[in-house]
Amino acid sequence: MKQLALLLAAFVLAVQSSHTFGPLATSPAPVVPVESPRNIILMIGDGMGLTQVTAGLYARKEGLHLERFPVTGLIKTHSAKNLITDSAAGATAFACGCKTYNGAIGMTAKKQPCPTILEQAEAFGMATGLVSTSSITHATPASFIAHARDRTYMEEIATFFLKTDVDMFIGGGMRYFAARTVDKRNLYEELQAKGYAVSYFLQQPLEHCVLDPKKPFAWFSAVKEPESVEDGRTYLPLAARLAPEFLAQRSEKGFFLMVEGAQIDWACHANKGPQAVAEMLDFDDAIGEALRFAEKDGNTLVIVTADHETGGMALLRGADKESLKIKFTTDYHTPVMVPVFAYGPGAEMFGGIYDNTDIYFKMRELLQFPTVEAK
Ligand code: MG
Ligand code: ZN
Repeated sequence: MKQLALLLAAFVLAVQSSHTFGPLATSPAPVVPVESPRNIILMIGDGMGLTQVTAGLYARKEGLHLERFPVTGLIKTHSAKNLITDSAAGATAFACGCKTYNGAIGMTAKKQPCPTILEQAEAFGMATGLVSTSSITHATPASFIAHARDRTYMEEIATFFLKTDVDMFIGGGMRYFAARTVDKRNLYEELQAKGYAVSYFLQQPLEHCVLDPKKPFAWFSAVKEPESVEDGRTYLPLAARLAPEFLAQRSEKGFFLMVEGAQIDWACHANKGPQAVAEMLDFDDAIGEALRFAEKDGNTLVIVTADHETGGMALLRGADKESLKIKFTTDYHTPVMVPVFAYGPGAEMFGGIYDNTDIYFKMRELLQFPTVEAK
């Protein structure tokens, strides 16, 4: 009898849980935010899947700043027609809230420009900024400020930095501004003429730059792509410290800042485990700087996520905490869900499993922007 009762209980539980895990007929009611943040810092680890996070976590004895986030979620990263997204479609999902084709920069699947969260923040009177360890015209940062049919149109993408009143940007790719081939424009000088304090790595290292909140700021870390952490790149954590302090002084209405750890992806494409870990730890240092600002400010939401996983990274048996045994199953991206971490006012909205496009809708809801017509 006792066994039957147990079986029955197990059956009831199984039925209940099959209901819980089956397809939902209706979506649950949305979580109503308790409070809205003044500022949002969106941090994107390009190619940062759970294994990349795990590798970083065991590689650093004291652990990661990521472990301090109270809310975690998972996002589905597929693009409009592909199970496996690229970084352009992945970033456009965050920037515009639409699933689009691979290669699209701030464009819908129908190749129409979509208003980005950064452009909307500008229109709303907020200060805005972009920081990356790739060229600033590279797919991830580009999707927040530009509208181009293809990610390879770097010089076209650079012109959008003159069309939007972005308050600051830091990254590589100076040649797309100052050594252009498609036209004779010098966008470096045009930025100066527009009132920007512009400098670059040879002229002035970032640590020597004094940011004047009265002037928008631009700094180029390289002519082409910035070097890797292993080759001596150090500016990302510093940029993540300087940017929020600077942007907070640029507008009373708050700021939107995107910070990208771009080269986790590149190390994983090259199947270089230790390099991927080094980039992961550098990105986590930048996360620590953003968290420090948010903890002090009390009015800043920090969201950390990834556009996709890269490399199908695995940690194998035989590895211990001190010496990780890293293997890769591909030199491209994979479609596994990637993590979301949130801290600050509105963070509770970022738990659960949802689409990458929902990052955009949640941010817009929290910033209380008026609805933009979908195309
Ligand atoms: Mg990227
Ligand atoms: Zn990639």
